[in-house]
Amino acid sequence: METEQMRPVIFAANWKMHHGPLAAREFVETFTELVGVRDGRTLWFFPPATTLGTVAHLTVHRPDIQIGAQHVHAEAKGAFTGEVSIPLVQEVGATGALVGHSERRHLFGETDEQTHRQVRALLDAGMTAMLCVGELLAEREAGRTAEVVRRQLTAALSGIEALAWDRLIIAYEPVWAIGTGRNATPADAAEVHREIRTVCAALGRVDRQPVLYGGSVNAACILALLAESEIDGVLVGGASLDADGWAGLVGFGA
Ligand code: PEP
Repeated sequence: METEQMRPVIFAANWKMHHGPLAAREFVETFTELVGVRDGRTLWFFPPATTLGTVAHLTVHRPDIQIGAQHVHAEAKGAFTGEVSIPLVQEVGATGALVGHSERRHLFGETDEQTHRQVRALLDAGMTAMLCVGELLAEREAGRTAEVVRRQLTAALSGIEALAWDRLIIAYEPVWAIGTGRNATPADAAEVHREIRTVCAALGRVDRQPVLYGGSVNAACILALLAESEIDGVLVGGASLDADGWAGLVGFGA
């Protein structure tokens, strides 16, 4: 069921390490049958690197759909076995990438300095950077959420040129909510989103900064989250893997 679109909303699907080209083809065919283009609604897909080109190719006729990489190396080329560069993902149709996802930070040890270099490289290449920030459970319980988010944002975004801000999307993803079935309450998320906008303004952002929420978003919580004017959309992992289910969530629209 689709409701009237009232404001720009971004729905981003992070497929993590799921869906090769065959599964992706089936997904895209089903999903694009169910979900049409709608003013103000942007759909991002972040498939695995091996699937980027397939999804980009299958959605090339959809102006509302953007394809992004889950991870890029900041260098354009070189002896970096196992890494994927920005020119390589651009060549197969990606227009953006996730940066600083909690799984990259906490499972692969990516540092604030690396996120900074990736953001800079993406923006310099004319791409969109979807920068993920968020606190660990212990940090939230210690009342350090704002401090952590401020540190991650300042490290990643210092020195961004005025014109590049329009190609930046922030996703607030509390680490304790990712893949756990726990969500931040809409009010708690909105409070952090306000803090994120304040930091972005201090760093030079002139216009309103789009900020998404991510962390176990599903059909039970999406409407309440999108009812918050501070929340401009969602970044979703698990609940984006099934085409019918993802079409249902996107259909809530807000
Ligand atoms: C994510 O991977 O960014 C994410 C939010 O995952 P999940 O929706 O499964 O918590």
